[in-house]
Amino acid sequence: MATPELICETLKAQGRRLTPQRRAIIQALLDDDSHPTVEQILSRVRRILPDISPATIYNTLDELVELGVVRELDVGLGERHYDIRTADHAHLVCIRCHRVEDVPFNYDALGTDAQHLRGFAVLERQLILRGYCPECLASQ
Ligand SMILES: [Zn+2]
Ligand SMILES: [Zn+2]
Repeated sequence: MATPELICETLKAQGRRLTPQRRAIIQALLDDDSHPTVEQILSRVRRILPDISPATIYNTLDELVELGVVRELDVGLGERHYDIRTADHAHLVCIRCHRVEDVPFNYDALGTDAQHLRGFAVLERQLILRGYCPECLASQ
């Protein structure tokens, strides 16, 4: 579970401080588990830091992704989504309303042992299940 304390520890361990910008973005992601886009994060962060620029948001997000605190997701809808839950899970994606939800998934169950990976060092595992959410199905 991602908590502000745990994230703060992760940053400290890498010699980074929890700047107001980083704190505001982390808080926005902790408060919004819908896998927001940059624009959605920007509007939330502006409630705390009204003068923050989109460039700062982009740079800080990139930095948090690099530090392993935030995950960047491309769910095939043409926008980048951000996720503060970095533990393994899969995503359900609605191709109509672009909703992105978490679904538990044990990647080890894929049985990708060393032999099948043919020497690849895997850094990230993503499973995306695309389709229609219950609301979109009901309104069709
Ligand atoms: Zn939907
Ligand atoms: Zn997620």
